Amino acid sequence: MFRLRPILSVILVLVATFLVSCGSGNVSKIPTTYTPEKIEQLQVLIDPIEDAREKMAVLKDLIAEQNWVDTRTFIHGPLGTLRRDMVNLSGSLLQKDQKIAKETAKELFGHFERIDTAAKDRDASIAQTQFREAIKDFDTFLNLLPSNR
Ligand code: ZN
Repeated sequence: MFRLRPILSVILVLVATFLVSCGSGNVSKIPTTYTPEKIEQLQVLIDPIEDAREKMAVLKDLIAEQNWVDTRTFIHGPLGTLRRDMVNLSGSLLQKDQKIAKETAKELFGHFERIDTAAKDRDASIAQTQFREAIKDFDTFLNLLPSNR
């Protein structure tokens, strides 16, 4: 009879472990919405991307002026960290939005690369077309992001 207590407590531990693992399996649903706290955390990552979107006006002017040297400097300089920022942020979004965010960022950088090539070739027409495409993808990306505002 005195052996029963240790065995009982082992069984209880096993049962408790089983219940906890089952419980967490059921509870850990993939979140489909952002909590205000999560948005606040993400905002740190979103800020530099919104800043970069505002700076696109500078790039537009450089292309309009056919200032190809500064166009290329701009793409490699101020926009240089944007790719990393977008990839980082993409990985922190809701699971359902991650793939499209990463693909859109990749698209956007394809356009930047084509603007860079057009600048090298001094081709204003391609540079302008690619700029418009870049803006579309940039805004698609921003539209995927949560906002408290
Ligand atoms: Zn595109």
